[in-house]
This record gives sequence, C-alpha cells and structure tokens, in this order.
Amino acid sequence: MSARSPKIGFVSLGCPKALVDSERILTQLQAEGYDIVPRYDKANAVIVNTCGFIDAAVQESLDAIGEALHENGKVIVTGCLGKRDALIREAYPDVLAITGPQDYASVMGAVHAALPKPHDPFVDLVPDTGVKLTPRHYAYLKISEGCNHRCSFCIIPSMRGNLVSRPIDEVLVEAEKLVRSGVRELLVISQDTSAYGVDVKYAERAWRGKPYQTRMTDLCRGLGELGVWVRLHYVYPYPHVDDVIPLMAEGKILPYLDIPFQHASPRILKLMKRPGNIDRTLDRIHAWRRACPDLTIRSTFIVGFPGETDAEFEELLDFLGEAQLDRVGAFAYSPVGGAKANELPDPVPEELKEDRLERFMQVQAKISAGKLKKKIGRTLTVLVDEVDDEGALARSPADAPEIDGMVRIADGQSLKPGHFAEVVVEASDEHDLLARLA
Ligand code: SF4
Repeated sequence: MSARSPKIGFVSLGCPKALVDSERILTQLQAEGYDIVPRYDKANAVIVNTCGFIDAAVQESLDAIGEALHENGKVIVTGCLGKRDALIREAYPDVLAITGPQDYASVMGAVHAALPKPHDPFVDLVPDTGVKLTPRHYAYLKISEGCNHRCSFCIIPSMRGNLVSRPIDEVLVEAEKLVRSGVRELLVISQDTSAYGVDVKYAERAWRGKPYQTRMTDLCRGLGELGVWVRLHYVYPYPHVDDVIPLMAEGKILPYLDIPFQHASPRILKLMKRPGNIDRTLDRIHAWRRACPDLTIRSTFIVGFPGETDAEFEELLDFLGEAQLDRVGAFAYSPVGGAKANELPDPVPEELKEDRLERFMQVQAKISAGKLKKKIGRTLTVLVDEVDDEGALARSPADAPEIDGMVRIADGQSLKPGHFAEVVVEASDEHDLLARLA
C-alpha cells in the first residue's frame, strides 16, 4: 500500500463469529486499496466491530466507540450492537455510521462516504483466502448465520435473524483454500452447528465430483478429506449428532464436541427455552464415549438463572458428576437488555449466584484435574502454537484455541508454530498438560 492510501483503524470485539466478520471487512478494505493501521492517530477513520451479547460486552463496545471517537473522531460502528443504534446514537451522536452484523456492503458504503476509494487497488496482493486475524495455522469456518431457537436469555436471533446456512460446496471450497494457504486446523462455527442445512432442506451440491448434502454429517465427511484437524463448535445433542461420532472414532475429524448445555434441571432448561431432554442427553454422552473413548466434551453453563432453587442447582452439580465433561466454562446469570428471561420472577441474589458459581467451578476443577491426570504417560499428537526459549506451547485434540488448556513442551525449542509434534505427557494440573518430545 502506498503512503497515500487512506488509512483505517480497526477494533474487533466479540465472539469468533464477529471475528469472521472482521476478517471479511478487512479483506474487502485491503482489496480496495485501503491501508489498515494499528494506531488511532495514524488512521483517517476507525471501524469498531461490536458485540451485544451480554451487558458487560455492550459496555465494552460502547467504551471502545467512545475511545475511538476521542482518539480519532471519525468512527463507523458495525457488528451485533449495531442493531441497537438508538443506544449508540444516544451515547455518541457523532459516529459516522452504524451498521449491523454481516452487513459488509453498508460498512463499505460508510467507508467510501468517509474516505473515497483509492485508485488502482493492489487486488492481487490480497491472498486467495482473505485476511485472517487468527494465526496462520488455524482458522474459523463459519457455516451459517442466525438461529431458529429462541433461548430466553439470548438476543442473538433478534439481532441476526433465523438460521441461514451457506451452501455446502461453498464452505468446502473455502476450507480447501484455507488448507492450501497453510491452515492445519479448521474450527467449525455457527450459532447451532447441528441445525446446519435445515433452512435449505439439506440441499445437495457437488464437491470434487461427488454429491454432498448441506448437513452436518456430510460437512464432516467432506472436511475429513482435507487431512487437517477439524473441530466442531456449538453442537446440540440431537440424535443425528450420533452420526458424526464414527467419523471421530475413525480419526477423520477431531474427537471433540463443544455442546453448550447451559443447565441440567429440566425446569430451568424449560424456562431457558433450551431444546433437548437432559436424561436422554446423559445416555447419549455415555453412548458416544463407548463408541469413541477419546471423545472430549466441552460445554458452558449458566448458574443463578432466575428462579433456580438450591435443589435445581444441586441437580446441576449431580449432572456434572455424572457427565464427567472434560472442559467446562460457566457464568453467573447476568441479564441481557431485551432478553425474555428478564421478565422471569425470582431473580437469584448476586451473592448467592457468586457462591454457586464458585461451588460449580470447584466441582468441575476436580473433575477436570482427574481427567487430565489420566493422560500422564500417554503419547499425544499436538499442534504447536508458539515457541520461545522456554519451550513450546501446543494444543492436543482436546484443546480448542483460546478457550481450553494447553500442552507445555519443556524441550520444544526446536519446534515450529503450525507444525504437528508427538509428545509424552509427564504432568498435569487443572487445565494444562506438561510434556516432553516423544
Ligand atoms: S441456540 Fe439459543 S443461545 Fe444459541 S444463539 Fe440460538 S437462541 Fe441464542
């Protein structure tokens, strides 16, 4: 890019789905000849990609907009919070434009209005796969947008609308390009991965000369051909999830399922408007583990949901004990502006919520430590993320980037990020493993 290229600052907040949006916008900006700069004072305008999931995220987004306005003055807002433009306008009437999630055309329109497109863009300099914000060796693969559920604590469907699945051939071609550009791990994301294709009636497309339906099992089958790690996020325990377990057992895709259970009490799940029957869920988990003993299950839970009684919280702890999940994240319930759950009676007092969260995490920490301890002495294949004088940081099939644990390799100085290595596990704690090269 030349010194005369218009310069854009970019602030990317929120979840992996927002990150994918950021990558698309950055790719388009670069393709049109804009220069991306890391400092407010060097930018001619700033784009803030916001998150609106929980109140803390809303506040973080508003603070980021305020900071960008203060430091730069020309600010374009996009992302989930953009759906609540009145809130943003009230706080910051001077923002140049507000657009919602995946509204790339409007973001680019606002950029063109603020900073006319430079001539003769160096389109060829943009890699085939676009600009990625994740390290080169892993990438998020977004398969759909929106959600057909209406969980009472969530406002994503009102912001992003109903499920819209990307055609399977398009997703597989994108995955192929990513692998060609050096990606070694694909992280499949959506709002509900198990619902992939419902909206297009599982439309059939061709890829590499063979028919594939737009559905999760066929997607896994196709991705399993690419010879890289494939990790599934945001899966619901529907019966057809059983069909991908054999692909995991055969080593085609990683034996890893990220399933946000959120609770285990049938009454609370009903209040949350979550799909699924928790008794059958436990049976299903046991059956999956019989078919694929190395399966890692990650989940998230909400404690202190309105109306949660002591007995229902104990039910949740019992579920944890029975399900023996490998990786668990938990939040104390916090109301989200505009969510139906705010109308529910009997909010749990803050202090009690925090107590429950602490107890929950203690129970899970023990389970997690016990499960990791069982890995001592085993040889694992890991993917190296970082290397320095102290060794290497890597992840095993059980560790998704950013949310799970790590494998520290004390003698891994000679390894290279993005390469696979074989290691022997020597020690463990509640989250991480310590290993040596095999
Ligand atoms: S499944 Fe529920 S929590 Fe997830 S995006 Fe859909 S409505 Fe929100």
